[in-house]
Amino acid sequence: MDPIGLAIASAPSKHPAPPGHQESHERLAAAISALQEPEYQALITPLNTSEYNCGLLSQVHSEAYIDRLANYPGEDQRHDEETFQTSSSFDASCDMTWSLLSAVEAAFGEGPARSFVLGRPPGHHAGREQAMGFCLVNHVAVAAQYALDRFGVDRVAIVDFDVHHGNGTQDLFYDRANVLYLSSHQHPLYPGTGLRTERGADGGEGFTVNYPLAVGTADSEFISLFENEVAPSLRQFHPDIVLVSAGFDGHALDPLGGLDLTGVGFNSVGRILRETAEDVCKGRVVSIMEGGYNPEANRESICNYIKGIAGQ
Ligand SMILES: [Zn+2]
Repeated sequence: MDPIGLAIASAPSKHPAPPGHQESHERLAAAISALQEPEYQALITPLNTSEYNCGLLSQVHSEAYIDRLANYPGEDQRHDEETFQTSSSFDASCDMTWSLLSAVEAAFGEGPARSFVLGRPPGHHAGREQAMGFCLVNHVAVAAQYALDRFGVDRVAIVDFDVHHGNGTQDLFYDRANVLYLSSHQHPLYPGTGLRTERGADGGEGFTVNYPLAVGTADSEFISLFENEVAPSLRQFHPDIVLVSAGFDGHALDPLGGLDLTGVGFNSVGRILRETAEDVCKGRVVSIMEGGYNPEANRESICNYIKGIAGQ
C-alpha cells in the first residue's frame, strides 16, 4: 500500500490565538500526537515541503489584499469580529498553502498521490480580497489554480465537507467550468450561503454544486450523499486531481456545528474519495484541514479520515 503523505503545518508559536478563541493550536494537538502512534505511522510518510513565491497567492487574491496581509500592523488585529491576525499569521497561512502546493506537486510527480495537510489557519472562507471566518489565504483555491497553471491540466475538482459553506472558494470559481466545486455543509449556518440554487454563473453554470444538510444529519445520510451524489459528480467531471477542504466541524461534539457525524462517517468519505480518485485521476486526492474545533473529535475524525484515504 502506498503511504499517505502528511505535512503538519502548525506550531503553537505561529498565529497564536487570542485567549478563549476556538481557532487555536490546541484544537489540533490531540490529532498530531495520535498520528505519532505506530498504527498511523504505518500509513503515512512525511511529505517533503518547499517554499513558493508569494506571487502565486495573487493568482486568486488581489495583490493589494496580499500586500495588506503581508504588512499587517501590530499584534492581534482583527479583520472582523472572529478573524484575527498577529505578526506571524501570514507566515502560518503561507506554510499551509506551500505544504498544499508541495502535496499537489508530489501527486503529479513522484508521489505520494494522496496527502493530508494538517494545520491552521483554515482558508475556505477567504475571498479575493477579504479575510473572513478565521481564514486569511484560501489555500485550496491557490492550489487549484496552481494545478491548472503548473501542470497544464484541464480540470480540478474541490470537495468541501466542512460544516460551514466555503463561500470564498465558491466565489473564486463561480464562473469557471474547469474547477468543479462540490460542498456539503449544514444549512442554515454561517456564512449563510450554499443553497442548492447556487450552481455557478455564465460558463461556470453547473460547476458549483451545493448539498445543504439539515441540523442533526448523521453518518448514514452523509455517507449516502458521498456515494450517490458526490462520487458520481466527480466521475462525470473526470478531474485530473481531487482537492479536499477537509473540515471536521460536522462532528457531533463540535461546538460550532449542529451535525451528528462521527469518525465512521469521515472514514467512509475518505474511502469513497480514494476509490473515486483511483478510477478518475490516478488516485490523486490531496486534502487540507479546514475547520474542527473540539480537540478530541478532531483526533477521532482525522485519524479515521486518514485511514479511509489509506483504504482502511
Ligand atoms: Zn467550518
